Amino acid sequence: MAANNAFVIVGASLAGAKAAQTLREEGFDGPVVLLGDENERPYERPPLSKGYLLGKDERDTVYVHPPQWYAEHDIDLRLGTTVTAVDPAGHEVTLADGSRIGYGKLLLTTGSSPRRLTVPGADLDGVLYLRRLADSDRLKQAFESASRIVVIGAGWIGLETAAAARAAGVEVTVLEMAELPLLRVLGREVAQVFADLHTDHGVDLRFGVQVAEITGADGRATGVLLADGSRITADAVIVGVGITPNTQLADAAGLEVDNGIRVDAHLRTSHPDIYAAGDVANAFHPLLGKHIRVEHWANAVNQPQVAAKAMLGRDAAYDRVP
Ligand SMILES: Cc1cc2nc3c(=O)[nH]c(=O)nc-3n(C[C@H](O)[C@H](O)[C@H](O)COP(=O)(O)OP(=O)(O)OC[C@H]3O[C@@H](n4cnc5c(N)ncnc54)[C@H](O)[C@@H]3O)c2cc1C
Repeated sequence: MAANNAFVIVGASLAGAKAAQTLREEGFDGPVVLLGDENERPYERPPLSKGYLLGKDERDTVYVHPPQWYAEHDIDLRLGTTVTAVDPAGHEVTLADGSRIGYGKLLLTTGSSPRRLTVPGADLDGVLYLRRLADSDRLKQAFESASRIVVIGAGWIGLETAAAARAAGVEVTVLEMAELPLLRVLGREVAQVFADLHTDHGVDLRFGVQVAEITGADGRATGVLLADGSRITADAVIVGVGITPNTQLADAAGLEVDNGIRVDAHLRTSHPDIYAAGDVANAFHPLLGKHIRVEHWANAVNQPQVAAKAMLGRDAAYDRVP
């Protein structure tokens, strides 16, 4: 059990690591405990669908800090450690093994998780998602052995995965419900440019389609059945249909949650000693005058710095334009 002046951070990824770094840079010399359920030390996710997936970036380049950095800065990094509950009144978090850690201030940087498909066949082997390093490794392996893959969803993850698969010489079909990729983000004109670019690289893009089922044999995905009855065969099916913020701990602790953990401009939740930052935070933006949740690398770098300062009682507010 840590001392009750400990600053505990739940979620050992980019936002969590940046918060820990800022606490030390700002001169905090009390205990900092960084808890993460993954077995990897904090790493950046963008390379997982780009350089690392393409085999251009070495594994070592994705990490936020070198391995010795945590001990050198007296950060108590505990990997493979799932937090199962937060007790705001008792100022404690509970771990999966039943042990508890006390905190003075708590920061939730629990991020987000891929939205899962619910169609029949969605749990077959060979249905793959991309969020973690191990997922990127699995995709690389699939590209080595597969001759055809289907990607469901033409968002950033789907398109980048399709591009990497094509680079590996795999035939790729991308299925998308909307009429163009990234239409909501890019607008019609630029979305069309993206679509043409991927088509030029040999991706078979199909728009306005609905997945009815992932077909399988002997427990493994063999392709996709569309609502119009057509079938596409594949050796693997990659799903990129968006993410949902990991708000379960905050919800169960009675914190205000609405499209992420609701925080003010100082990134403080509805409980004064608990803060949230990164993908999971739906933060009040003082310039926009409304709450906004941003799933973006820069947000996961910058927001926790403000959260850490606010936890230290400094006058910090997050007002970067996303
Ligand atoms: C493949 C990929 C490519 C991307 N490319 C880009 C890009 O090009 N540009 C861009 O701006 N953004 C990109 N993003 C998004 C960007 O990576 C995220 O916005 C960023 O990772 C958010 O960081 P985070 O630390 O808030 O959350 P996360 O990275 O999701 O980290 C949260 C961590 O908390 C852990 N955790 C959750 N619950 C618990 C618990 N109860 N106990 C312990 N640990 C827990 C999670 O396992 C995870 O390790 C990409 C994302 C992915 C997956």
